Amino acid sequence: MAGKYPDGDFYQFEADLDQDELNILHRVREWAQSSVRPHAAEYWNRSEFPHHLLPEIAELDIISLVRGKGRSRLLAGLVTAEVHRADASVGTFFSGHDGLFTGSIELLGSEEQKARWLPELYSVEKNGVFAITEPDAGSDVAQGMSTTARRVSGGWILNGVKRWIGNATISDYVAVYARDPEDNQVKGFVVETQWEGYEAKLIENRIALRSVQNADIHLTEVFVPDTHKLEHSNSFKDVNQVLKSARSVVGWQAVGLQMATLDVALAYTGKREQFGKPLSGFQINQAKLSTILGNLISSQSMMVSLARLEERGSVQNEHSALAKAHSTKAMRESVALGRELLGGNGIISDYEMAKIFSDAEAIYSYEGTYDINQLVAARSITGVSAFV
Ligand SMILES: Cc1cc2nc3c(=O)[nH]c(=O)nc-3n(C[C@H](O)[C@H](O)[C@H](O)COP(=O)(O)OP(=O)(O)OC[C@H]3O[C@@H](n4cnc5c(N)ncnc54)[C@H](O)[C@@H]3O)c2cc1C
Repeated sequence: MAGKYPDGDFYQFEADLDQDELNILHRVREWAQSSVRPHAAEYWNRSEFPHHLLPEIAELDIISLVRGKGRSRLLAGLVTAEVHRADASVGTFFSGHDGLFTGSIELLGSEEQKARWLPELYSVEKNGVFAITEPDAGSDVAQGMSTTARRVSGGWILNGVKRWIGNATISDYVAVYARDPEDNQVKGFVVETQWEGYEAKLIENRIALRSVQNADIHLTEVFVPDTHKLEHSNSFKDVNQVLKSARSVVGWQAVGLQMATLDVALAYTGKREQFGKPLSGFQINQAKLSTILGNLISSQSMMVSLARLEERGSVQNEHSALAKAHSTKAMRESVALGRELLGGNGIISDYEMAKIFSDAEAIYSYEGTYDINQLVAARSITGVSAFV
């Protein structure tokens, strides 16, 4: 008997989109499933970024379509989930370029800077990434950042090392956050990657998001003209605006990985037979599939609520932190169950599940680890900070 799983939308969240938005979502889904997913594991195995997709992304004009006037935050979230459903590495390209880099310009740039950079970023003619983390400053980067931005005539001189910067070896721009020793405040700068003194070195041997070209960036006496200092980025509080919206994006990534888990696990357990019947016919396996479905829906529900807060303009750090923490925790259980349902084949990337399982580990830890996001949420309800 065929099951009734309405393409990732068991609780009909898509019904809140208007027809125009629904068409955009379906176009993205069709492209992601037909162009991204079929070759994702090959690129992941080779740790290569699928460059051939960039013209397709430009042609589809996804970023402009999702950001068009009057578009809902729900559409943006569902599109993020849909791309991650097909492949988290390609999804992370979008989130780094669109969420973090473009978000830095939109939230912290001057009107002139927005006019200069946003059109080429929306069309993906140029792409950018976001650099805040350092080798010795991860969760405590707000206090521990040691990259410096020294004021000089006509601009700034940047020195320091950044770690984990997504796709930094292949991007055109990097939003670098650095401390001004004059006032000890963290400020934001757009660095062009061909500038003298900029060097990006791929971090090898990663077990997650292998197609993303995460790199260590070395900045040695890099001169940044005043035109490239983000006008409204003058303290860590300003950077936090970008991180708040990025955490929401990561919550949607966790939704996408759980949709992928269910896609793979349902197809596999429906087909493979043991003891003369499909794996999906055993009660224990059905309980696991139900748990994944419940986790997916609790994550979707939380993210839909967050999208509503975003639309009302009332979202706070603690809202996005809790949603990121909850969705990624649920995801971690879901992908482990998915891996288990595929038995031995669950540890080979050829069957997709091993890739999804591994990618989930990165998502659980970036944009503020699970622990840190829990602490941000708890600080809000207790009034006591456990980490500063
Ligand atoms: C695949 C990937 C991509 C990334 N992309 C980017 C990027 O594009 N740009 C960028 O700037 N950064 C990026 N990051 C960095 C990411 O944001 C950091 O890894 C993350 O903030 C955690 O920092 P850390 O790895 O140094 O861990 P640490 O801060 O060293 O933490 C290690 C462990 O200790 C726990 N811990 C730390 N402090 C506390 C505390 N006070 N209380 C309780 N527990 C605590 C953490 O939860 C964690 O479990 C990326 C990371 C990964 C893995």
